[in-house]
Amino acid sequence: MVIVSACLAGFCCRYDGKSNRDERVVDLVRSGRALPVCPEQLGGLATPRNCCEIRIQGGSRRVINSEGQDVTGAFERGALEVAKLAEIYGIRCALLQERSPSCGVNRVYDGTFSGKLIPGKGITAGLLEEKGVILFTPGEMDELVRYLTGK
Ligand code: SF4
Repeated sequence: MVIVSACLAGFCCRYDGKSNRDERVVDLVRSGRALPVCPEQLGGLATPRNCCEIRIQGGSRRVINSEGQDVTGAFERGALEVAKLAEIYGIRCALLQERSPSCGVNRVYDGTFSGKLIPGKGITAGLLEEKGVILFTPGEMDELVRYLTGK
Protein backbone atom coordinates (compact mmCIF):
# COMPACT_ATOMS: atom_id res chain seq x y z
CA MET A 1 0.00 0.00 0.00
CA VAL A 2 1.22 3.49 -0.85
CA ILE A 3 -0.02 6.92 0.23
CA VAL A 4 -0.62 9.11 -2.83
CA SER A 5 -1.34 12.83 -3.15
CA ALA A 6 -5.10 12.91 -3.67
CA CYS A 7 -4.80 15.43 -6.52
CA LEU A 8 -2.79 12.82 -8.49
CA ALA A 9 -5.68 10.40 -8.04
CA GLY A 10 -8.08 12.88 -9.65
CA PHE A 11 -9.51 14.57 -6.57
CA CYS A 12 -10.05 18.30 -7.13
CA CYS A 13 -8.26 19.30 -3.94
CA ARG A 14 -5.66 21.66 -5.39
CA TYR A 15 -5.59 25.28 -4.23
CA ASP A 16 -7.36 26.24 -7.46
CA GLY A 17 -9.98 23.52 -7.18
CA LYS A 18 -8.43 21.40 -9.93
CA SER A 19 -6.63 18.06 -9.90
CA ASN A 20 -3.36 16.66 -11.28
CA ARG A 21 -5.08 13.42 -12.36
CA ASP A 22 -2.59 10.79 -13.44
CA GLU A 23 -4.20 7.61 -14.79
CA ARG A 24 -1.37 5.47 -13.41
CA VAL A 25 -2.18 6.74 -9.90
CA VAL A 26 -5.93 6.24 -10.44
CA ASP A 27 -5.15 2.62 -11.40
CA LEU A 28 -3.18 2.14 -8.18
CA VAL A 29 -6.18 3.39 -6.17
CA ARG A 30 -8.64 1.24 -8.17
CA SER A 31 -6.57 -1.85 -7.51
CA GLY A 32 -6.55 -1.17 -3.77
CA ARG A 33 -2.81 -0.45 -3.64
CA ALA A 34 -2.98 3.29 -2.92
CA LEU A 35 -4.59 5.51 -0.29
CA PRO A 36 -5.28 9.06 -1.60
CA VAL A 37 -4.85 11.89 0.91
CA CYS A 38 -4.67 15.69 0.72
CA PRO A 39 -2.74 17.07 3.69
CA GLU A 40 -3.94 20.63 3.13
CA GLN A 41 -7.60 19.58 3.33
CA LEU A 42 -6.83 17.31 6.29
CA GLY A 43 -5.22 20.30 7.98
CA GLY A 44 -8.49 22.21 7.71
CA LEU A 45 -7.87 24.44 4.69
CA ALA A 46 -10.69 25.20 2.27
CA THR A 47 -10.77 24.35 -1.43
CA PRO A 48 -10.24 26.48 -3.40
CA ARG A 49 -7.77 28.44 -1.25
CA ASN A 50 -5.03 31.00 -1.69
CA CYS A 51 -1.80 29.48 -2.95
CA CYS A 52 0.90 29.06 -0.34
CA GLU A 53 4.68 28.92 -0.27
CA ILE A 54 7.29 28.05 2.33
CA ARG A 55 9.44 30.88 3.62
CA ILE A 56 12.25 30.95 6.17
CA GLN A 57 11.55 33.82 8.59
CA GLY A 58 13.72 34.58 11.59
CA GLY A 59 15.26 31.12 11.36
CA SER A 60 11.89 29.37 11.40
CA ARG A 61 10.08 27.70 8.51
CA ARG A 62 6.68 29.29 7.90
CA VAL A 63 4.00 28.70 5.28
CA ILE A 64 2.57 31.97 3.97
CA ASN A 65 -0.38 32.37 1.62
CA SER A 66 -0.61 34.83 -1.25
CA GLU A 67 -2.47 37.26 1.06
CA GLY A 68 0.48 37.27 3.47
CA GLN A 69 -1.30 35.20 6.13
CA ASP A 70 0.67 32.63 8.12
CA VAL A 71 -0.99 29.22 7.61
CA THR A 72 1.83 27.11 9.06
CA GLY A 73 -0.47 25.58 11.70
CA ALA A 74 -2.85 24.11 9.11
CA PHE A 75 0.05 22.67 7.11
CA GLU A 76 1.55 21.09 10.21
CA ARG A 77 -1.82 19.65 11.29
CA GLY A 78 -2.28 18.13 7.85
CA ALA A 79 1.19 16.61 7.91
CA LEU A 80 0.52 15.04 11.31
CA GLU A 81 -2.77 13.57 10.07
CA VAL A 82 -1.05 11.99 7.06
CA ALA A 83 1.70 10.60 9.30
CA LYS A 84 -1.04 9.15 11.52
CA LEU A 85 -2.65 7.45 8.52
CA ALA A 86 0.70 6.00 7.48
CA GLU A 87 1.21 4.62 10.96
CA ILE A 88 -2.32 3.17 11.30
CA TYR A 89 -2.14 1.46 7.89
CA GLY A 90 1.51 0.49 8.26
CA ILE A 91 2.35 2.29 5.03
CA ARG A 92 6.06 2.67 4.28
CA CYS A 93 6.05 4.63 1.00
CA ALA A 94 4.34 7.65 -0.56
CA LEU A 95 3.94 9.03 -4.07
CA LEU A 96 3.69 12.81 -3.78
CA GLN A 97 3.10 15.74 -6.11
CA GLU A 98 6.27 17.70 -6.76
CA ARG A 99 6.53 21.48 -6.03
CA SER A 100 3.70 21.60 -3.47
CA PRO A 101 4.40 23.27 -0.08
CA SER A 102 2.89 20.13 1.49
CA CYS A 103 3.77 17.30 -0.88
CA GLY A 104 6.89 18.49 -2.77
CA VAL A 105 9.64 15.88 -2.57
CA ASN A 106 12.64 17.54 -4.24
CA ARG A 107 11.62 21.08 -5.15
CA VAL A 108 9.33 23.77 -3.75
CA TYR A 109 8.67 27.41 -4.61
CA ASP A 110 11.02 29.86 -2.91
CA GLY A 111 8.46 31.86 -0.91
CA THR A 112 8.46 34.95 -3.14
CA PHE A 113 5.42 33.94 -5.26
CA SER A 114 7.51 34.60 -8.35
CA GLY A 115 7.44 31.05 -9.72
CA LYS A 116 11.05 30.35 -8.71
CA LEU A 117 11.76 26.79 -7.58
CA ILE A 118 14.44 25.82 -5.07
CA PRO A 119 15.55 22.47 -3.67
CA GLY A 120 13.44 21.52 -0.67
CA LYS A 121 10.56 19.48 0.67
CA GLY A 122 6.95 20.23 1.53
CA ILE A 123 5.84 20.05 5.16
CA THR A 124 4.14 16.65 4.83
CA ALA A 125 6.89 15.17 2.67
CA GLY A 126 9.48 16.23 5.25
CA LEU A 127 7.57 14.73 8.17
CA LEU A 128 6.93 11.44 6.34
CA GLU A 129 10.60 11.19 5.48
CA GLU A 130 11.52 11.81 9.12
CA LYS A 131 9.23 8.89 10.02
CA GLY A 132 11.10 6.64 7.60
CA VAL A 133 8.55 6.67 4.77
CA ILE A 134 10.19 6.33 1.33
CA LEU A 135 9.13 9.13 -1.01
CA PHE A 136 8.51 8.85 -4.75
CA THR A 137 7.49 11.43 -7.35
CA PRO A 138 5.24 10.84 -10.39
CA GLY A 139 8.44 10.68 -12.47
CA GLU A 140 9.50 7.66 -10.43
CA MET A 141 6.41 5.54 -11.07
CA ASP A 142 8.44 2.59 -12.43
CA GLU A 143 10.60 2.56 -9.30
CA LEU A 144 7.47 2.71 -7.11
CA VAL A 145 5.83 -0.22 -8.91
CA ARG A 146 9.06 -2.22 -8.53
CA TYR A 147 9.10 -1.34 -4.83
CA LEU A 148 5.45 -2.38 -4.36
CA THR A 149 5.83 -5.65 -6.24
CA GLY A 150 9.22 -6.45 -4.74
CA LYS A 151 10.80 -6.88 -8.22
FE1 SF4 B 1 -2.27 17.67 -4.00
FE2 SF4 B 1 -0.75 17.58 -1.83
FE3 SF4 B 1 -1.57 19.92 -2.76
FE4 SF4 B 1 -3.34 18.28 -1.62
S1 SF4 B 1 -1.60 19.25 -0.64
S2 SF4 B 1 -3.61 19.39 -3.54
S3 SF4 B 1 -2.56 16.30 -2.25
S4 SF4 B 1 -0.19 18.48 -3.80
